[in-house]
Amino acid sequence: MTKFTDLNLAPKVLKAIEDVGYESPTPIQAGAIPPALEGKDVLGIAQTGTGKTASFVLPMITNLARGRARARMPRSLVLCPTRELAAQVAENFDTYTKYMKLTKALLIGGVSFKEQDALIDKGVDVLIATPGRLLDHFERGKLILSDVKVMVVDEADRMLDMGFIPDIERIFGLTPFTRQTLFFSATMAPEIERITNTFLSAPARIEIARQATSGENIEQHVVMFKGSRRDRAASEKRQLLRALIDAEGEKLKNGIIFCNRKTDVDIVSKSLNKYGYQASPIHGDLDQSQRNATLEKFRNGEIKILVASDVAARGLDVASITHVFNFDVPGHAEDYVHRIGRTGRAGRDGKAIMICEPRDEKNFADVEALIAKEIPRLENPLGQPSEEASEAEAVKSEKPKRTRTRKRKSDKPAEEKTAVESGSADAGQDTRSEEPPKEARQERRQDRQDKPEGKSRRGRGRKDDDTKVIGLGDHLPSFIALSFDERQAG
Ligand code: AMP
Repeated sequence: MTKFTDLNLAPKVLKAIEDVGYESPTPIQAGAIPPALEGKDVLGIAQTGTGKTASFVLPMITNLARGRARARMPRSLVLCPTRELAAQVAENFDTYTKYMKLTKALLIGGVSFKEQDALIDKGVDVLIATPGRLLDHFERGKLILSDVKVMVVDEADRMLDMGFIPDIERIFGLTPFTRQTLFFSATMAPEIERITNTFLSAPARIEIARQATSGENIEQHVVMFKGSRRDRAASEKRQLLRALIDAEGEKLKNGIIFCNRKTDVDIVSKSLNKYGYQASPIHGDLDQSQRNATLEKFRNGEIKILVASDVAARGLDVASITHVFNFDVPGHAEDYVHRIGRTGRAGRDGKAIMICEPRDEKNFADVEALIAKEIPRLENPLGQPSEEASEAEAVKSEKPKRTRTRKRKSDKPAEEKTAVESGSADAGQDTRSEEPPKEARQERRQDRQDKPEGKSRRGRGRKDDDTKVIGLGDHLPSFIALSFDERQAG
C-alpha cells in the first residue's frame, strides 16, 4: 500500500499530515499527487468524501514552497462552486501549511471587498474563490491573473449545475496558457468533457468509484408516504419525519435533513424546534455570517440537526455525520448521491432515510436507476395516515395560537413572511445578503422549478389552494410557502 512518505511531498507537508493523523493516502490522493507534483495536468473524477481536497492541496503547496508571490498576482487559484466549499478548502490549506510560510486569500461573496483587497495587494500564494467573486475583483482591476501557475477547478459538475461554466471558461482564458490545471468533478457530463478537452493538456486521469454506488457503508431506506388529505399532507409529513428521527434514538448523533425548497427548509426547521428538537436551517438566502455560525455550531455539536438545501450543504465536510434524511426526493438523481455522501465519510458507517410522496415517484425511479439498486422500503412508523387519525392529531397538536386574518399582499419574500407571521425570533430580520449570491439565485430557480405542475407561482385565489385556514401551529397553508418572485413584485 502506498504511504505518504512514498509520494515526494515536502517534509513540512508530511509533518502536517502526521499531525492530522492520516495513516495512508486515499486512492485519489495516491493517484493524483504524483502527476500533480510533476507539474502535469490532472483530471480527477471523484466526489467529496474521497479525500480529493488533499489530493490537490498537498502537491500544490509542495510545489509552491519555492518562490514568492508578487503584489496582486496570485501564484495559484482554486475555484469552488460555493462559499462553504471554498471556506473548507481554505481550512484544509491552513491545516496542511502549518509548518510553511505560504499566504492565502479567500474570495467569497458575503465578505467585504476591503479585507480581501488588502490581502491581494500584499500578494498571495493561493487564492481560493468562487467564480463570480473572483471575476468581480478582476473587473475592479484589483487582481492580475497572469502569474497563475496552478489552477484548480473543484466540483466542476456543481459548477455546471449552477451555471458557472461560462465564468470558468473566462477565468481559464485570463490565466497563462502554460499553467498547470488540476480539475475535479464527480461526474463527466458532456459539457465537462468539452471543457477538459479544451483546457487540459494530456491530463493524468484518475477515476474513483462513486461513493454511493460502491460505498456499502451507507444504509439506505425510503418510506413511501401519502397524506390523508391534501391540506394535511405537509404537517403529516413533518410528523413522519419526527417519528423517523425518534426511531433512530441514540444512534442519531447528528444529522442533515435535506429539503428541495428553501421555504421548506425554514418550515421544517421551525417545526422541529417547536417539538423540542434542536435544529437550525441553512440555505442560500441566509447571509454568510449566519451560515458560518450555523455550520460552526453543527461542527462542534451545539446543533444536532441541520435542515439544509442542496446548495447550502454542498461540499459540507463534517467527518462524522451519522444520518441524512431526505425530506423530499431530490429533483436531480445526482443530488441524492451528493446528499447521502454527507454521511458515511472517511470509512464510517452512515444511514440515509428518504420520504417519497406519490408526486416524487418519477424522481425516485431516477434515483434508483442512477445508483443501480433498489432502496429498501421502510414501513411508515406511524402507519399510513388516515383522515380520522389525522383529524384527531390536528385537534391535539394544532390548536390555533391566535386567529389569523389574511394579510395584504406585502413586499416580503415568502420565507420571511412565514417567520414574521408565526412570530419567530427571526421575525422582521432580512436574511438576504445585500448582494444575493449566485447560489441563492440558483435555489430560487430550483424553488420555481419544483412547484407542483399546474400551480401558478402565486396561486392566490385558486380553487386548489388551502381554503380553510385553521390557525398557525404546525399547519401552514400552502400559499404562504409559495416562492416569491421579486421581479413581479417590483
Ligand atoms: P474530501 O473528499 O476532501 O472532502 O475529504 C473527506 C474527508 O476525508 C475529510 O474529512 C478529510 O479530512 C478526510 N481525509 C482526507 N484524506 C484522508 C486520508 N488520507 N486518510 C483519512 N482521512 C482523510
